[in-house]
Amino acid sequence: MNLTNVIAAIPDYPKPGVIFRDITPLLADGKVFQQVIDQFAERYRPLGVTKVVGIEARGFIFATALAYALGIGFVPLRKPGKLPRATLSQTYALEYGEDTLEIHVDDIQPGERVVIMDDLLATGGTVMAAIELLRRQQADIVECAFVITLNDLEGHSRLANAAIPYYTLCTF
Ligand code: 5GP
Repeated sequence: MNLTNVIAAIPDYPKPGVIFRDITPLLADGKVFQQVIDQFAERYRPLGVTKVVGIEARGFIFATALAYALGIGFVPLRKPGKLPRATLSQTYALEYGEDTLEIHVDDIQPGERVVIMDDLLATGGTVMAAIELLRRQQADIVECAFVITLNDLEGHSRLANAAIPYYTLCTF
């Protein structure tokens, strides 16, 4: 699937020197959005996945659509303080500073087969924090799935080094 013409490249956003990959044209094109979710669904339907875990915020868009297509549950990983019940949290490093992801402790049972989804893989800091949360929940991580991977950054090698299966629809 060639997604390059539905992912906009925004120079110097959110700061000078960064090219932001904007997925909103992909979402606004109903046929392409459907093809994207169908491709993920075909890949994961035979694999006995029990939950799709989405990372706030753009990961939610793809993860919820995939969970619906597979008829299985969706679990959100959220920024701190957003989940109302008992949570586990995991802090991770950003280029400047740090951030935290949280999960409701009872949203995943030990042994569940999960796919972790986000729109884009860059340095891998976000997805490694997600993986750590799911490991602490004793989930079986079937794969980490992305629409986009930025190849010049180290996220894909971090996943390979951690022996976590990984899938992406396109790379830049
Ligand atoms: P990482 O933690 O791998 O460095 O960054 C990935 C996270 O940052 C993802 O949650 C993703 O949504 C966000 N992100 C970083 N750069 C971009 C970008 O250029 N486009 C989009 N859509 N998301 C980005």
